[in-house]
Amino acid sequence: MKVWCRKLFKSTHQMNEILEGLTRGIAVYETLRTYNGKPFAINEHYRRLCKSLGYLRIEPPTYKDFEKLIYDNLSERIRVVYIYDGRLISYVLQESTENFEVDYVKVDFTTVRRADASSIPPDLKSIGRPDIYLARLTKGDNYDVLLLGSKGQLCEGTFSNVFLVKNNKIVTPSLDSGILDGITRMYVLKFLKENGYSVEERYVEPCEIFYADEVFLTHTSRGIVPVHQVGTLKTLSTSLSENLAKQFEEYIKCLL
Ligand code: PLP
Repeated sequence: MKVWCRKLFKSTHQMNEILEGLTRGIAVYETLRTYNGKPFAINEHYRRLCKSLGYLRIEPPTYKDFEKLIYDNLSERIRVVYIYDGRLISYVLQESTENFEVDYVKVDFTTVRRADASSIPPDLKSIGRPDIYLARLTKGDNYDVLLLGSKGQLCEGTFSNVFLVKNNKIVTPSLDSGILDGITRMYVLKFLKENGYSVEERYVEPCEIFYADEVFLTHTSRGIVPVHQVGTLKTLSTSLSENLAKQFEEYIKCLL
């Protein structure tokens, strides 16, 4: 197995605390990216972390503490985990984006459905969340698999949001489809609107993907990811998505 992250335990005591927390408690997390050594969207990640902890009725860390944790552990990709077992323990993994760098991106639908928002909020980003975890087990050689919601609507991947392009119009599942409020998704929507694209956020039927000209995913580690193939049937053009991916990376760097 490839080792591609560095675990940071400050001491054996901290390691034991984490193990105890994981045995009896719950853990939520955020993954951030750095560009040219600068972390992107700390504020948005902090807000989403507070939301996850809020669902669990756990007092969040202060913004200052969260920010310090990021700056003390800068790396290409930073995973910040908060474990709660009566008190909040933080834990950081320094990771790379290497595993996400593939030339040919294939996705497929999974039969695992996204948990209904009335049972588990889609933006509760917890470690080992069962709907996401079970879907990931069906990933096979796909880059990611797409989950439908309880009404059969298209939702998202296990670590990505999904966009469809049809006749230069861009469509993505709305937040009320029961998806994670992806931070990249939010910035991509802003970037597309600022650049004059027609964008729609709405319920999307899964079959629409088979009529799409292009499909792309969005996630923190890689920004916009053009999709080359859906399932065994559909092979897609990626020309617009490739351009958007490059422009979006520049857009993000300018925001830092
Ligand atoms: N959807 C799910 C279920 C995710 O877990 C993630 C990221 O972890 C995303 C979408 C993409 O979100 P972001 O752009 O904030 O990385």
